Amino acid sequence: MSSTDHETIMNVFQHPDFAGHEQVVFCHDEDTALRALIAVHNTNLGPALGGIRMWPYTSEGEALRDVLRLSRGMTYKSALAGLQLGGGKSVIIGNPRTEKTPELIRAMGKAIDRLAGRYIGAEDSGTTVSDLKTMSEVTTSVAGIVDKEGAAGKRSGDPSPATAYGVFVGIRATVKYRLGRDDLGGLTVAIQGVGNVGYRLGEYLKEAGAELWITDIYDDQLERASKELAAQVVAPDDIFALDVDVFAPCAMGSVINDSSLSQLRAKVIAGAANNQLAENRHGIELMRRGILYAPDYVINAGGIIDIAYERSGHERTKVLRHIERIGDTLSEIFERAKREELPTNQIADQMAEERFRRPAVT
Ligand code: NAD
Repeated sequence: MSSTDHETIMNVFQHPDFAGHEQVVFCHDEDTALRALIAVHNTNLGPALGGIRMWPYTSEGEALRDVLRLSRGMTYKSALAGLQLGGGKSVIIGNPRTEKTPELIRAMGKAIDRLAGRYIGAEDSGTTVSDLKTMSEVTTSVAGIVDKEGAAGKRSGDPSPATAYGVFVGIRATVKYRLGRDDLGGLTVAIQGVGNVGYRLGEYLKEAGAELWITDIYDDQLERASKELAAQVVAPDDIFALDVDVFAPCAMGSVINDSSLSQLRAKVIAGAANNQLAENRHGIELMRRGILYAPDYVINAGGIIDIAYERSGHERTKVLRHIERIGDTLSEIFERAKREELPTNQIADQMAEERFRRPAVT
């Protein structure tokens, strides 16, 4: 651990990403060598729900930064999705391919259980539905494990189909606002990443009559998607400059940056990826260029909505109706952004804060 890391850990309260967290827990289990962090950002609206990530962080400082940023993001996502949930996240320090054992996963379940329901864990990078089922042997504070009828039929806890449906609904609302069209027939869309969410989003868009361009870094993903979605394939670096109506980032974060911005020709950015803006100033730049940005945590909330309903009794129609409200929330954000002449990401943050911050006691 470097001396900078050492200072970072010692100064958690002054950490640049601390953001008023209610609780940050460092967890250790001697038998399994578990090292994990659980961050509970805010529970004003309900228990803090968020994924359990397992990642080979190169330092404790890196793990702390990640868990704090992700946890805060969950508070904003759930608040704007209209859920009675707070925001939290947890990270296990380790390589999921080489260091994950059932014992370690159970030890993490016990660590989560000690928070007595204040934090509820779900699947994330490096953990699977099967890991969550293992944790459920020792805690009830896990979600996303129940077989149910979801947006795309019966499946086991995987939130991706619900996320894809929410992104599709969000694209419809954003296109209506920016391009003034209800009908998606002939709409041109570039999808970056045709994995779990991007591929299903492509199915919805194809069904609605849109024309698709796709890219991915894996040939097998591309082969399947180009055939099934009748989509044109482009190289990863060529996706930004396409002359299309919509750019849908469904791969990784920080995709809207100085380099991609100078190439973008789409009028709408609406996709599933988390943390799409490399920096907040890129939101201002999108507004300046007349590109309407659907804030990532608003449009990709379908999965968390799906998981929330699992905890309160899963009824497919109700879940779908709730996911469809993503479109209304986006329209409200766009209206307010226009009125206040502010970027949509900033308006989304303000609206979320209005919902989860308790009114000051007078
Ligand atoms: P995934 O891993 O199944 O799919 C991502 C795809 O992007 C993969 O096919 C990968 O090969 C491709 N990819 C990676 N880097 C790329 C690059 N540079 N250029 C082009 N393609 C690239 O993940 P997913 O579950 O589909 O999630 C996609 C995004 O949406 C992620 O950012 C995720 O955090 C976010 N998200 C997912 C959910 C969900 O329910 N799965 C919910 C909210 C947000």
